[in-house]
Amino acid sequence: MSISFAIIGGGWYGCHIACSLRALGFGVTVFEHQPRLLHLASGNNQFRLHLGFHYARHYGTRMQSREGFSRFVERYPELSRPVPDNIYAVPCGDSLIDFLTYKLIMTSSGIEFTELYDHPPMLTNLEGCLKVPERVLLIDRARRYFLDRLSENLVLGHRVAAIEETEAAVHVDGQRFDFVIDATWGHFSKPPIELFYEPTLLLYYEANCDFPAITMVDGPLCSIYPTEDPGLYTLSSVPHTPLGRFSTSEAARQALDAVDPALVASKVELMEQQIARYVPGYKDVFRFIGPQFSIKTKPSGSFDDRSCYVFKTGRVFSVMSGKIDTIFYAMERILSLIEAMPDASVPAEAGGLREEVLRSAASWTPT
Ligand SMILES: Cc1cc2nc3c(=O)[nH]c(=O)nc-3n(C[C@H](O)[C@H](O)[C@H](O)COP(=O)(O)OP(=O)(O)OC[C@H]3O[C@@H](n4cnc5c(N)ncnc54)[C@H](O)[C@@H]3O)c2cc1C
Repeated sequence: MSISFAIIGGGWYGCHIACSLRALGFGVTVFEHQPRLLHLASGNNQFRLHLGFHYARHYGTRMQSREGFSRFVERYPELSRPVPDNIYAVPCGDSLIDFLTYKLIMTSSGIEFTELYDHPPMLTNLEGCLKVPERVLLIDRARRYFLDRLSENLVLGHRVAAIEETEAAVHVDGQRFDFVIDATWGHFSKPPIELFYEPTLLLYYEANCDFPAITMVDGPLCSIYPTEDPGLYTLSSVPHTPLGRFSTSEAARQALDAVDPALVASKVELMEQQIARYVPGYKDVFRFIGPQFSIKTKPSGSFDDRSCYVFKTGRVFSVMSGKIDTIFYAMERILSLIEAMPDASVPAEAGGLREEVLRSAASWTPT
């Protein structure tokens, strides 16, 4: 009988790990609380397939993104598409680093870009601009892809209440498995690092013409990014997107539930004011459509670590997700931790290298 895995959570991480384990011949069951896949953070974010340009302050995150980007395009060629005009800009005065430093960090990280010597005409207040090949994730297509691949492995609309571990197995709400992978981004159980939950608000806009993706870096800045739907964009802002900082998932959820139209209206005003510093004609092009709510689980610390971490206690793996490009890293860590388990270790043999050398040396001894 093949080894069985229960995966809690049907976001990008749970779905990718489930497909990979299935392909390797393991038994897989995905428990997802919501009635559909990719329903929480995985379906409510800025849909950017990162290459590392966001993370000037964290080397590990840049490296994971750079590698994850090409693996993603190779493994899921139909689940993202190019963004023809994708610009990262360092604004004058408002950035935490200057343009040359930013450019140098990206160059030394081996991430490809083209420097734009003439700023696009709709932008102002900029020190420098790079054109980058980051892509947009196609979330609706991804949902259908995973539903199709995993249909026999899914238990949708099931909120896992408890897991119980014995020496030989682990039970998920009473059902027996060999291993459990908690891929809930810390919503079922907290990974063993210092972290917090951040409810978030992005804004959806409709544009009356094609508009480039524009990301201001580095620091408390803002960005406009296209979605898979032509003419539909998200606006995000480092200072205005977060709606607080909570030590439990439950408290973050309650804060989201308490958001009212007045709060959304005030965020719209603040975020439009912020983007207008760099895109003065923003309101002539974009029309606000509605908010997007989500929750980020973030490691504590101020230098923007968005790397992925995997922990293992007994038969339970806990995934601390990074960005979506780090799904491959998570899967490989899980396999590597399984391979390193004691029952996978090489049995001790009598003899060993010394005996072999002595045996062989005996045949060279002159008679
Ligand atoms: C505002 C915002 C913008 C972002 N922008 C980007 C971006 O542009 N690019 C990028 O790469 N990343 C971005 N991210 C990060 C990205 O969303 C996450 O890396 C990714 O979605 C994490 O996926 P996940 O599968 O770990 O978690 P989730 O998508 O949150 O999935 C966890 C799943 O677990 C389920 N679950 C929880 N508890 C239980 C339970 N007890 N039983 C059963 N199921 C349960 C939930 O219903 C959920 O479906 C952004 C995040 C936010 C919030």
